[in-house]
Amino acid sequence: HLFFTHKAEEKESFLQRLSGYPSIVITFHQNPDGDAYGSSLGLKFYLESKGKSNVTLISPTEPAEYLKWMPGASEVKVWDESHREIVEEADIIFCLDFSSGSRLKEMKDTVIQAKALKIVVDHHEQPESFGDLYYWDVKASSTCELIFRWIKDMEPEASITKEAAICLYTGLLTDTGSFRFDATTPAVHRIAAELLERGVVPAKVHRSLFDNNPLEKLKFLGFVLGEKLNYLPEYRVAYMAISEEELKRYNSRNGDTEGLVNQGLSIANSVMSVLFTEKEGQIRISFRSVGDFSVADFARAHFDGGGHKNASGGRSQLSLNETVEKFLTLLPNIKAELLSQPS
Ligand code: 5GP
Ligand code: MN
Repeated sequence: HLFFTHKAEEKESFLQRLSGYPSIVITFHQNPDGDAYGSSLGLKFYLESKGKSNVTLISPTEPAEYLKWMPGASEVKVWDESHREIVEEADIIFCLDFSSGSRLKEMKDTVIQAKALKIVVDHHEQPESFGDLYYWDVKASSTCELIFRWIKDMEPEASITKEAAICLYTGLLTDTGSFRFDATTPAVHRIAAELLERGVVPAKVHRSLFDNNPLEKLKFLGFVLGEKLNYLPEYRVAYMAISEEELKRYNSRNGDTEGLVNQGLSIANSVMSVLFTEKEGQIRISFRSVGDFSVADFARAHFDGGGHKNASGGRSQLSLNETVEKFLTLLPNIKAELLSQPS
């Protein structure tokens, strides 16, 4: 753990950079989720409340529809060459909710080569060393939790605005699977409590995130559960593979597959669930597990990915069918570990 604000000289160097009117860029992982978006917008609102109004949020890829209700979301820029200068000239770049440069996609080289002080705030395993300062805790529920803790480290009496609170609450909610995953500690609930005191209405946030679907998305879910969900009781593994054609047939929008992979884990006794999706000829893979089976290790070893013990992602250059076949041939190697998990 490297909590830079615990080191007086690092805190000093950061505060010096922050003084005056610095140009600040906040970026986060491609295909942002509630935590990437929430932590970045929450931080932006906090910095603005401190009078730092030169803050630009840049997303490596087009964000999903289901996040667009969030306060400040309409100001998020999507990376293209026209933003190169902002990144090159920035004084500070915050890198939130990722610690592997490849997750910046086309933005990667510009960010890594920029002269700015780079501050990585994250909770993923095995961070790479492209940052100058790290506020990193693999045990944290979410980057939103870390941003909250960081604000309190910097300024114990900080009062968080309602807008910032809504954003930070969103990441706590989404990254803990609505306060159910193992990382849901008493500290997480205490943070949530303080955010509620700042004006968050839980039902509103939940409905905006999860009950805001076009009818087609539910029809798509019906199709996936009816036709695409496989379960292998001999391995305790569920998997689904969805082709680009099928996504198009249901008019699936960016982000519409979010959460789908969790459906597989609701099967009694299941230990791992995997979703393969084909997009622009590439295969994206989402892994989820319960218990001690590490899908981060599995994704890193076989599918060019990583993440957390129970939630990870990866990719494959093979076709959809070949990717599924490769996955199926790996299962005998991990069978013993899968079967040894408590139910
Ligand atoms: P998702 O399945 O929701 O895309 O990703 C699950 C978790 O794994 C998220 O926390 C995400 O940030 C992380 N993740 C997804 N893909 C990758 C990857 O390629 N590399 C790493 N290190 N983490 C990933
Ligand atoms: Mn996260």
